[in-house]
Amino acid sequence: MTQTIQHWCDGKLFAGDSSATAPVTNPATGAVTGEVALASVADARTVIDSAADTFAEWRDTSLAKRTAVLFRFRELLNERKGELAEIITAEHGKVLSDALGEISRGQEVVEFACGIPHLLKGGYTENASTNIDVHSVSQPLGPVGIISPFNFPAMVPMWFFPVAIAAGNTVVLKPSEKDPTAAIWLAELWKEAGLPDGVFNVLQGDKVAVDELLTNPKIKAISFVGSTPIAQYVYSTGTAAGKRVQALGGAKNHAIILPDADLDLAADAMVNAGFGSAGERCMAISVAVAVGDIADDLVAKITERATTIKTGDGTKDSDMGPLVTKVHRDKVASYVDAGEKAGATVVLDGRTVQANGGADGFWLGPTLFDNVTPDMSIYTDEIFGPVLSVVRVESYDEALELINSNQYGNGTAIFTNDGGAARRFQNEVEVGMVGINVPIPVPMAYYSFGGWKASLFGDSHAHGTEGIHFFTRTKAITTRWLETAAVITRPARSAPGGEGLNLGFPQNA
Ligand code: NAD
Repeated sequence: MTQTIQHWCDGKLFAGDSSATAPVTNPATGAVTGEVALASVADARTVIDSAADTFAEWRDTSLAKRTAVLFRFRELLNERKGELAEIITAEHGKVLSDALGEISRGQEVVEFACGIPHLLKGGYTENASTNIDVHSVSQPLGPVGIISPFNFPAMVPMWFFPVAIAAGNTVVLKPSEKDPTAAIWLAELWKEAGLPDGVFNVLQGDKVAVDELLTNPKIKAISFVGSTPIAQYVYSTGTAAGKRVQALGGAKNHAIILPDADLDLAADAMVNAGFGSAGERCMAISVAVAVGDIADDLVAKITERATTIKTGDGTKDSDMGPLVTKVHRDKVASYVDAGEKAGATVVLDGRTVQANGGADGFWLGPTLFDNVTPDMSIYTDEIFGPVLSVVRVESYDEALELINSNQYGNGTAIFTNDGGAARRFQNEVEVGMVGINVPIPVPMAYYSFGGWKASLFGDSHAHGTEGIHFFTRTKAITTRWLETAAVITRPARSAPGGEGLNLGFPQNA
């Protein structure tokens, strides 16, 4: 009998009334390891109420106390991230080192949020007018919803919830139903860190849960990450219901390799960025644009490296794990079929991989296409698998035009030793995150993460100062005190009825 993965509400597991569930599988074996609860509207409302009922108390908890909880959460996460990595590998399939990597990137946002008092400081103007002062404060929004995708079950929620919680909001996280256990582990860790019950909640489910988050008036803002069609839906539905929404969507990331590039560096980068995490990364490079006569050499170098990749169970000695579900594996394989049929050259064929894992695992090895043209579906569509396409062009301008005419604008990279070319590229390319000789340019936590065009709907990117702005709103307060205020008398601190003497530093007040 498999376990049911429940919601987390008001500081404890919550079964809910709905009997609907979805299977959770181990992608390396194909075995069903659990059933995740799919919330009914009533279940969703119970979880949202928990966040709403706790908001005033958490908002009014001092910054000193809030950040102390953040620090404890960071310490516990750092000590015990191995446990979380095992959960991620068991439900997502990525190799353990990669799972640890995503946790570390999430942890950086927790560390960023530990310093939030500095970032919440307002401004103060004395004597803006005679005897009138003006100051501003940043206040939390209320209960906020976070809806996350399957590919980063720890990191993507951590792009948002450390900042949201540090700023004084309460949270309902709706993780992907494909790998829902990491969210519960994080909820238990928050409790251990001393976060009051009800500040961080987990709502398991599908569209029913998402729709309730998007329309329930108690939820004030939504941070969504997932595919572009759902991001568009979330943005339009959430904003129509009066919420602040940031909805991060899909991607088709190109890397340009100029003729003067270090081809070994570029080939290493293409292999890491194309096949790492089985290509199930929103910042994966799926198109290598070879400029000029370097294409044959580049393809040879990528092939040489990619053939050494060990595909297998992420808990074993593997470089690349399986795809997340059988349905997704078959969809990616169908793109490989389509690319071959359309006339692209299959240099490496992942369909024939011998994986070091279960016979029923969702395997597809690294696949490399050469001579891909922009009319082919392997070029136009986000495949989200270990499929790298090489497109050959004659010039930098042709390469740039490919990127700028693409519907997506999440990440991109250029490989060159020419500073002038790199500088021109960073200026001209219409993409939110740019790498120069760096393949997956995920910004540090104190910068903001987000794409352009169909890769992000809304005005704010994740974490960094844009994340702080997203999870707060400002008030400007204008004050007049009369010059001759009444004299206030009160008992001396040491007198009867006084506050009492305390000569020490105040502690965590
Ligand atoms: P998805 O869009 O299928 O699911 C994302 C979330 O939306 C999940 O929580 C899911 O339960 C929910 N959802 C799914 N269908 C829904 C519907 N019809 N109505 C309401 N909610 C629904 O995405 P995924 O397959 O889990 O993740 C992969 C996608 O996420 C890729 O497109 C990838 O590029 C994108 N992604 C983007 C970024 C980024 O930073 N831009 C980061 C990670 C992933």
